[in-house]
Amino acid sequence: MSAPDCIFCKIISGAVPCHRVLETADILAFLDIGPLAPGHTLVVPKQHFDSILDVPPDMLATITRPFPMLAKAIMHASDATGLNVLQNTGASSGQAVFHLHFHFIPRRAGDGLGYRWNAGKYGSGQAESVHAKIVSALSAAR
Ligand code: 5GP
Ligand code: ZN
Repeated sequence: MSAPDCIFCKIISGAVPCHRVLETADILAFLDIGPLAPGHTLVVPKQHFDSILDVPPDMLATITRPFPMLAKAIMHASDATGLNVLQNTGASSGQAVFHLHFHFIPRRAGDGLGYRWNAGKYGSGQAESVHAKIVSALSAAR
């Protein structure tokens, strides 16, 4: 199923051109039009899901199956020594296109992209509290 105003659905149908790097019955991988580094690739399911919150687990398994092969090919082609795999969910995370996608961003030491991971610290009781909430949400979901 595709969504009428979705740019990635248009790319999948061929209505909007892209540089396709891998296509299977269920997924498409293509170059990001605004690369953070040469070789920056997006992997999308052909079926439209707004985000990872909507995708059935079996489909997610299908989407991720070619990840190791793609990672190696993208790194090899980009002469990269590392790779960031990134998936934004929701506008507050930076998601701009609401068709589930994974970024594969080739990295090299000193490539200037940087990486900010502002690690925090739990205050007293905070880890226990959020831990209990996650475990409880998981048991409700099963
Ligand atoms: P998000 O911020 O939603 O995780 O990332 C969306 C990505 O889609 C961006 O990196 C952006 O450059 C890419 N993108 C948006 N429109 C197009 C397009 O028409 N063609 C291609 N190839 N990439 C696109
Ligand atoms: Zn779509």
